Amino acid sequence: MHPVPILAVLAALAGATAATAQALPPMPPVEASDRILIVSPHPDDESLCCGGLIAEARRAGAQVAIVWVTSGGGFRLDAMVVQRKARPKYADMRALARRRIDEAQNAAQVLGVEANGLYFLGYPDRGVLALLLDHYESPYRSKYTGADAVPWEQALNPGSPYDGASLERDFALVVERVRPTLVLAPSPYDAHPDHRASGILAMRIFGTRGEIDRVNYWIVHGGRAWPTPRGLHPALPQTPPPRGRSLPWMQFALDSEAREAKRLALRMHETQLKVMGRKMMSYVRSTELYSPLPVAEADRRCIEALPCHPEELSREEAAL
Ligand SMILES: [Zn+2]
Repeated sequence: MHPVPILAVLAALAGATAATAQALPPMPPVEASDRILIVSPHPDDESLCCGGLIAEARRAGAQVAIVWVTSGGGFRLDAMVVQRKARPKYADMRALARRRIDEAQNAAQVLGVEANGLYFLGYPDRGVLALLLDHYESPYRSKYTGADAVPWEQALNPGSPYDGASLERDFALVVERVRPTLVLAPSPYDAHPDHRASGILAMRIFGTRGEIDRVNYWIVHGGRAWPTPRGLHPALPQTPPPRGRSLPWMQFALDSEAREAKRLALRMHETQLKVMGRKMMSYVRSTELYSPLPVAEADRRCIEALPCHPEELSREEAAL
């Protein structure tokens, strides 16, 4: 028997991946009458999850608003690289968050989102789950920035205390202003705790309003090595993330203009590109994936019995 050349195997694998992605049903098109709200846990998630859809929606004449739950001041490695500090202090982490707010504004501008549709809530990076579960009414202090209240002057409510009730109130205020017809929020399967918590926050608020059907879900931290392959491959469709394998994904196809807008929006996140540029570029694909359900049927009871602890959700891939 002749050994099968490795390149042929890789080509067959790539073909199989593309075929799987192609089989996903299309997401309904965005209409000019739509008002879309992007729930972004950190500056950069708006572009990673949804940059292409945002660009196409704006071109179609739809309104788009983005709400950033945190300002991204909890990424110590990033502060070490960007601020060139071996042991970043509170002030360094706050400076990083300020830069990331600017970067998010620049990215939104590239995607065509108007300045009056940008909402920075300013809650603590890596603290959102704690606010919802353990600090709903008691104050929380960020171990990264030292803040126990929203410190950013660009925020919706500067000085708002770091607790779950304040976070919910601010988020609900944005929802009331935007009155979205479509919401794109993180799935509780996302590996980052701020993402899981932001998804649950969106589900709580839209559930209370009787509008949970308006929410669709995305995953950015989908499991080790995803998206594969790394780097910029805009002609390849996005593949379902391992952590969300059980979700009923729909694909939103991006034309070349939308892919390029997404790539340029990601380039605005300079502080993030310095530490994970190749990974970030691997989100620029010919499709973006959204699920109408937050979690699989087996995990529904946990989510409905809020407050459920998302760490207890089932995991298809225990090693992730
Ligand atoms: Zn994030």
